[in-house]
Amino acid sequence: MMSIPGLVVDERRHSHVLQGPLAAPRGGIMLHYDDSSRDDWAVEWFSDPRCTNGYTWLVLDDGRVVELADPAHRTPHAGACKTPMANSVFYGIAAATNGLVPATDRQLASIAAICVALMRHHRWTLPSVPHGIAGHDEQAIWTPAYTSQRALWGTTGRKVDPTGQRPDHKKIIDLNDVRRSIAALV
Ligand SMILES: [Zn+2]
Repeated sequence: MMSIPGLVVDERRHSHVLQGPLAAPRGGIMLHYDDSSRDDWAVEWFSDPRCTNGYTWLVLDDGRVVELADPAHRTPHAGACKTPMANSVFYGIAAATNGLVPATDRQLASIAAICVALMRHHRWTLPSVPHGIAGHDEQAIWTPAYTSQRALWGTTGRKVDPTGQRPDHKKIIDLNDVRRSIAALV
């Protein structure tokens, strides 16, 4: 099992999430929310056989970090994306929240801390992360597997996380805020 120096994990719950060998080298970090309404249900869901989603880290409201998979393995968190083999290329981090409830300051701080540990591990700087720190919505594209509407194939819009769709346009996770926090830490 791979352990990343400086990455603080409060709980490990491996082996319930589908894992496979990396099909491409790691080259970025993808942020999500998991669409949960309560932390305890969120953690349980990843032990449910019906769960086919898999983040490497789930960050709870209070900032605690649950590691759901060995970071050395790919997990099904991204699906078809602009970047090929995105499940391998991107580490997947999810805030335990949904499209209405903005991530808490503690969640955002833990997410930034995970990103910094990963960047140090790979010797990446913010501008040199090969595929960047991306939101799922920036990357996820439609393909024939998701829609028969040919005009949509290859375009984004398949996912709305981690921005969300609040009527007041407040973002659940604002990627620019996360990038700013990371820049202040490295
Ligand atoms: Zn997502």
